[in-house]
Amino acid sequence: MAQYVSVAVPVPHLGRLTYRVPPGMRVARGARVRVPFRARRMLGAVVEVHEGLPPETIVAGLDASRIKDLVAVLDDDPLLPEPVIALASWVADYYLSGIGEAVATAVPAMFFSPSRDVDFKYSRVAVPTAAAHADAFVPKLGPRQRMLIERLRAEPLGVATATLADDGIGSSVVAALVDRGLVTIERVRTNRDPFAVAVAIDEAREAAKADVVLSDEQREALDRLTSLARASRFSATLVQGVTGSGKTEVYRRLAREVCALGRRVLILVPEIALTPAVAATFRHTFGERVAILHSALSDGERHDQWHRIRRGDIDVVVGTRSAVFAPLDRLGLIVVDEEHDGSYKQETAPRYNGRDVAVVRARDAGALVVLGSATPSLESLQNALSGRYEHLRLLRRVQDRPLASVTIVDMRAEYAARGPEVIVSEALHGALTERLARGEQAIVLLNRRGFSPSLFCRQCGESFACPNCSVSLTYHKRQHRLRCHYCDFAKPAPPACPSCHGDVLEYQGVGTERVEEEITRLFPAARLARVDRDTVRRRGEIVDVLGRFARREVDILVGTQMLAKGHDFHGVTLVGVISADVGLGMADFRASERTFQLLTQVAGRAGRGEIPGDAFVQTLFPEHAAIVHAVTQDYDGFAAHEMEFRRDMRYPPFVSMIAVTTRARTMPEALDIARECARHVKRHAGDAVRLVGPAPAPLQQLRGQFRAQVFVKSVDRAAARRAVRVAIEAMRDRLRDITVDVDPHTVL
Ligand code: ADP
Ligand code: ZN
Repeated sequence: MAQYVSVAVPVPHLGRLTYRVPPGMRVARGARVRVPFRARRMLGAVVEVHEGLPPETIVAGLDASRIKDLVAVLDDDPLLPEPVIALASWVADYYLSGIGEAVATAVPAMFFSPSRDVDFKYSRVAVPTAAAHADAFVPKLGPRQRMLIERLRAEPLGVATATLADDGIGSSVVAALVDRGLVTIERVRTNRDPFAVAVAIDEAREAAKADVVLSDEQREALDRLTSLARASRFSATLVQGVTGSGKTEVYRRLAREVCALGRRVLILVPEIALTPAVAATFRHTFGERVAILHSALSDGERHDQWHRIRRGDIDVVVGTRSAVFAPLDRLGLIVVDEEHDGSYKQETAPRYNGRDVAVVRARDAGALVVLGSATPSLESLQNALSGRYEHLRLLRRVQDRPLASVTIVDMRAEYAARGPEVIVSEALHGALTERLARGEQAIVLLNRRGFSPSLFCRQCGESFACPNCSVSLTYHKRQHRLRCHYCDFAKPAPPACPSCHGDVLEYQGVGTERVEEEITRLFPAARLARVDRDTVRRRGEIVDVLGRFARREVDILVGTQMLAKGHDFHGVTLVGVISADVGLGMADFRASERTFQLLTQVAGRAGRGEIPGDAFVQTLFPEHAAIVHAVTQDYDGFAAHEMEFRRDMRYPPFVSMIAVTTRARTMPEALDIARECARHVKRHAGDAVRLVGPAPAPLQQLRGQFRAQVFVKSVDRAAARRAVRVAIEAMRDRLRDITVDVDPHTVL
């Protein structure tokens, strides 16, 4: 009987393809093969081997004589491990993506294009020599040369010459110091191992952790989790522990126990560069047996890491979302740290949630999965309440440190008293003054970058919208440009109104760049740094800034939500939120939950050391449930309130939801496509689903296209998915204009 294979090729929306194995060719599941596809040849991965025609071709009525032969087999030993094939297949099925897209997400890029050059990129880095560190005064330096020396003394790992040039220290300045033996130039991989820096930050503290005595709560959680891990079968636990309750320490010890049992560990974090503490902790404990996988690695580095894991050289993988597909065997434990975080959701196909895939992987592997957070997602909470997950709680900070005490600042009163231009309230100003006087540190959060989110003409009211998207352009002062935060359109900021030529343009609203300017004005002597996507263009940069903050070389750190995640800075005793309201007005059913999480998390950055912390939250809506509960740090109160809203409005976790977004050159066309899709779904699923829409999407226009949406809601998850699958099969020729998002995280 002839042998056939089902093959995944990395092409969007495509299901498994069937090929015949020519006589004499040997091939196994997981091997890469070269196949004829349309007019060319492509690499694919074998996801199944069949003796005789596979059932899907029989169902499709395919004639065996039309099935093409494999061209070649690349791997004698299958490269793709069994559990990864199973997981990628589950992802393609559940998230309604092509199988090839799912496999491509699971493997390094070189898997499907092995001929590609290993793209290690190098950059030139200026590194201080011993002479530069010598205390003796170095005579006859120019002001720029002196600046460079100061800077390098603070950053002994060196600074990329490109970064120096950005900051006005040109190559001639660097060259002069090289000539004097104060600086050397090294060629360094552009994508430096974030571990290296993280470890440099935390070495002393990591060493100290080895002998901390666990709190009673930590001990109980660890004991329970250890016994679940020992059972060697699937179970899921939600670990809900307040910020600073020592969850990371519990994961570390649990990982050690699991490794001692001869099983392997996967630790997922929202973003490696933002969680250096977690990375450093695991690197310190497991040394060379740790691998990291994350998006900032070059293709070459990812390839190396992947193969080290594949060979079995690795016991612990720490990584972001896609690390859930790491080719580990004998998996005993998966930890999803900050499980509520939106960055676990991939916003391109396959639109999977790494947290949910982790649960499936643990189930397949017979492993323990731990979902940890101070502010669990309502989905995970619901699973805990219904008994699907075990629920462990850590209610207190380690060493009985108090949570930050949070104060609401009602900006309506502030504006009434001091005018509408106020950025830093009197209360926050006073608190910052105090901290600076005492040499303590502060974090100031505003979840909006740029100088001001919109600009309009005082005289005629003209405003400045993106030509491609239905949003206003954000003014960026340092670049003196107007930018779209959705499509990256940018143009120079106009000197006068283009319609009436009036020259009074008003900057409306506040972004982090403006906050930085204001705080510099208020506290000229303070050492300030800003962290947002404009200041940290290169991945390594955030680690550098956070490192300086950890070493207390910075007094006040201003930034966006990047600052709120998981950091453990012991010198921070004050957190200020410039506006808690950013994001609350979004037409998104998770807006409230996200705001609550952000505020609770950022308040959780204060008072993690010896000295208790304070937080000030500025808002125009002091009665809003998300803000009220964040201020009292009352997760249970918030969750009860929000669950009621979700139940009443039939939103997740009470129904499953699939968002279908369509795109076209006009809104009527986009709505037509959405209607056609809705008809297919309704015809197939009948009363098993409820459709909301089609209607214009909240973000009506994006990158020049109009967008419409229809939501498929159902209590029968599988039925809804089947119906949408039928709809997209029926609309194959339009799939370029349709996005299907199962369990969407944002619905703009
Ligand atoms: P979480 O992840 O719950 O916010 P972390 O794990 O970051 O908390 O712990 C907060 C801080 O407390 C860290 O600096 C950690 O090293 C320290 N820590 C953890 N457990 C203990 C303990 N039992 N005793 C003293 N310090 C601890
Ligand atoms: Zn735009």
